[in-house]
Amino acid sequence: MKRILTLLAFGALAVIAVLLMRTLRFGSKQIQVQPAAPVVLDRQALATRLAQALQFQTISHQDPGQFDREQFLGLHNYLAEQFPLVHAHLKRETVGDFSLLYTWEGAEPTRKPVLLLAHMDVVPVEPGTEDKWRYPPFAGRIAEGFIWGRGSVDDKGSVFAILEAVETLLRAGFQPRAPVLLAFGHDEEIGGERGAQQIVALLQSRRIQPEYVLDEGGAIIQGMIPGIAVPVAAVGIAEKGSVSVELSVRAPGGHSSSPPPHTAVGTVSAAVQRVEDNQMPVELRGATLRLFEAVGPEMPFAYRLALANLWLFRAVVERQLVSTPATNATVRTTTAATMIEGGVKENVLPTNARAVINFRILPGDSVDSVVEHVRRIVNDAQVEIRPLPGAREPTADAPMDGPSFSVVARTIREVFPGTIVGPYLTIGGTDARSYEPLTQNIYRFTPIIADPSDLIRIHGINERMSVENFEHAVQFFVQLIKNSGGAR
Ligand SMILES: [Zn+2]
Repeated sequence: MKRILTLLAFGALAVIAVLLMRTLRFGSKQIQVQPAAPVVLDRQALATRLAQALQFQTISHQDPGQFDREQFLGLHNYLAEQFPLVHAHLKRETVGDFSLLYTWEGAEPTRKPVLLLAHMDVVPVEPGTEDKWRYPPFAGRIAEGFIWGRGSVDDKGSVFAILEAVETLLRAGFQPRAPVLLAFGHDEEIGGERGAQQIVALLQSRRIQPEYVLDEGGAIIQGMIPGIAVPVAAVGIAEKGSVSVELSVRAPGGHSSSPPPHTAVGTVSAAVQRVEDNQMPVELRGATLRLFEAVGPEMPFAYRLALANLWLFRAVVERQLVSTPATNATVRTTTAATMIEGGVKENVLPTNARAVINFRILPGDSVDSVVEHVRRIVNDAQVEIRPLPGAREPTADAPMDGPSFSVVARTIREVFPGTIVGPYLTIGGTDARSYEPLTQNIYRFTPIIADPSDLIRIHGINERMSVENFEHAVQFFVQLIKNSGGAR
């Protein structure tokens, strides 16, 4: 007995020693840099140029018939007026009728170009919510330190921050060493089929392989990760996929006075419930795992201990992550039953019923594995299961150990001192995924500081960009272009 207790005590000591060793070795992975000297900018002029751009209602509607070409052409002209040096020194091409591709020649034209993405289209304002906006969504008002309106953040803010940076550098006589390409899509919010995909086809036909691609899809977030007070720059290195799966049931119909135990409506409902009750498994891996590897060393001891020792604490950490919808989405393929319909009259048995479940696919899972999961869980021959068109696979993970991720991380730490940089799994869709055929170095990051309340404004009510954030975004792109190309 005494022997067993002694062994147990030694075992416990050994585990504690391993835990502590691993925690101590879990050191900071942040690049050490000096803050960059900011360039001089006219903050008010910057804000005004962006604000006026929000007046162009460059809306991507689901119904192509509502597309308003004049708004896009108006914005194109406005860009030419507002950025004269950009338009004198860069080649501008229109692609897919309304998207724009700018080429800034490098001093060493054979170098791989840098490719900066943004999109000019915006989502509509949901009808009935217009009067909930503090300032009208397409008025382009500057007030209370913010630029208010649809597109101020997503994503005209990026279009303008990039162009302001290039204009500023040109005014200073700067020429990049490597070429710099700017690609501004016009249909990102409806999939990028005419914009991003055609730009990619054009670049492929020219055999252009960028050094890296930078798009929206991450930001500097504050107050979202428990235990970490400093801002965290979340740089998207991968993007989830998506598939909508239709469940449908046919039935003979008849009068509702003599029904079978389950109608088509009942059978479909039960199938939906089974799928909701049996979600895809939680997997702390890929970009999300690497986020914790990057951020963990900066956290207080208890968190550091857990994250340095996932061999023991994985289940605890995963349980914590699934407890909120936002973090749950970073560790599993999510299940969202979004549509259900069936039946025509209250006393008629339905001859068919259908439901649609939208899945956002974690890298590592696939469209096929999701459909297979649904079949296995539904397990009912009466329910027909099929993926709807438009599915897309999750992307590959972009590398973090090469010079491209480093230049982005370095620039973030130079322009936003004290910010921790980490990789991130982008939950929504972006144009960036279309660029996978050109390079694996695809990063998603908008250089603005946001807290949770800012994020719900995107695609929502009262979208706004703080004037200070916008100025920082311009500084970021100035520094990124300098760091990437290097002066001649
Ligand atoms: Zn966007």
